[in-house]
Amino acid sequence: MTDDVVVVGAGIVGAACARALARRGLAVTVLDRGGAASGTTAHGEGNLLVSDKEPGPELVLAQHAARRWPTLVEELADELGPRFPAVEYDPKGGLVAATTAEGAQPLRDFAARQRGAGVDAREIDVARALELEPALNPGLTAAVWYPEDAQVQPVAAAEALLASARRAGARVRTGVEVTGALRHGDRVVGVRTSAGDVPAGAVVLAAGPWSGVVAARLGVALPVRPRRGMVLVTTRMPHAVRHKVYDGDYVGATQSGDAALQTSSVVESTAAGTVLIGSSREQVGFDDRLRAVVLREMAARAVRLFPFLADASVMRTYLGFRPYVPDHLPIVGPDPRTPGLWVATGHEGAGIGLGPVSGELLADLFTGAEPEVDPAPFRVDRPAVLAAGSPSEEPGEAS
Ligand SMILES: Cc1cc2nc3c(=O)[nH]c(=O)nc-3n(C[C@H](O)[C@H](O)[C@H](O)COP(=O)(O)OP(=O)(O)OC[C@H]3O[C@@H](n4cnc5c(N)ncnc54)[C@H](O)[C@@H]3O)c2cc1C
Repeated sequence: MTDDVVVVGAGIVGAACARALARRGLAVTVLDRGGAASGTTAHGEGNLLVSDKEPGPELVLAQHAARRWPTLVEELADELGPRFPAVEYDPKGGLVAATTAEGAQPLRDFAARQRGAGVDAREIDVARALELEPALNPGLTAAVWYPEDAQVQPVAAAEALLASARRAGARVRTGVEVTGALRHGDRVVGVRTSAGDVPAGAVVLAAGPWSGVVAARLGVALPVRPRRGMVLVTTRMPHAVRHKVYDGDYVGATQSGDAALQTSSVVESTAAGTVLIGSSREQVGFDDRLRAVVLREMAARAVRLFPFLADASVMRTYLGFRPYVPDHLPIVGPDPRTPGLWVATGHEGAGIGLGPVSGELLADLFTGAEPEVDPAPFRVDRPAVLAAGSPSEEPGEAS
């Protein structure tokens, strides 16, 4: 039997698409060349943030996601039962702090713009900030409290979405690499893979930072590129960081298109007592070498926020590749250049938070249902996406 849809990629975005499509009665197969949730989804942090987003379409999607996550977590727990690992959803809130005199006013201005867009962004004084986070640098110059920020465990969330998709009838095939498109005239009618042809009524491309490479194999151009990020993990520390805490510079780093290195500090404690310090942003292709200079800069920023980290020992470091699109917006919807091809990718540093609602948006568009957010800003045929020109699988970027 031919499936209605083949989803390429079993990261959180592919998992969310598969779940949303399968629950609407469509026959779905998910293909991944690795294991489930083995790509960027396994290398990110699990921040679900409204606090780092400028007013605009990405913030609207993030606000929708912030409302949707608690109900989704309940649905998944009900469906999968107590024996399935929890997704560790924690609506702990976020605290953004400036540590320099120059950083204070831009942070306040940013928060004021967000309040205008409906974000709960509360400017607080140093005493209140220290009440929330006793170990914070008392010399901070401005602080904003964002009660709507939360976190999940990304791999557990992707696996729960996939398990839910399976319960709705989806099949998940790992170790299967997509190498090309099956075509009938202009129309894509399935994929060629390392395990043979897989015909389908439609193909959803959800290959994260590899989406540009896979798109080229399918015969279309998509300007999705890897934006490398590194994370430091300390050994267990006696001090707890109770919320998501990051320096105000983070905002500038997420919005910048600069290919050069940018770092900002995002600090959080895990349940086990280790402290996670993220993260950097660089466009260096799929180069997976850890660089000491990047880690040093991240550590220095983290120590400015939390002086106790000066005595921390680093247990491990790791990196991942964010799926970057030049206008910093996800791509979700049909590709009008290629009938039968659908796209759900390009979430850069927000794919864990935005993945589930993106899957639901794609399924709404696929089935002709009324989407809960305006899909127009995320469409494939917007100028920043079409500017990609002709398909090219760049050497050295296919790994
Ligand atoms: C350091 C770092 C920190 C981050 N922190 C956060 C955060 O706090 N909050 C947040 O929301 N986001 C965060 N992100 C971003 C987030 O991790 C990504 O946006 C998200 O994981 C993207 O999910 P995806 O499903 O699109 O891609 P992926 O998880 O990469 O999934 C794509 C899948 O496609 C598969 N694939 C590729 N090519 C092929 C092929 N030819 N055939 C078959 N399968 C193929 C891959 O194996 C992979 O499993 C962070 C990212 C990094 C790097």
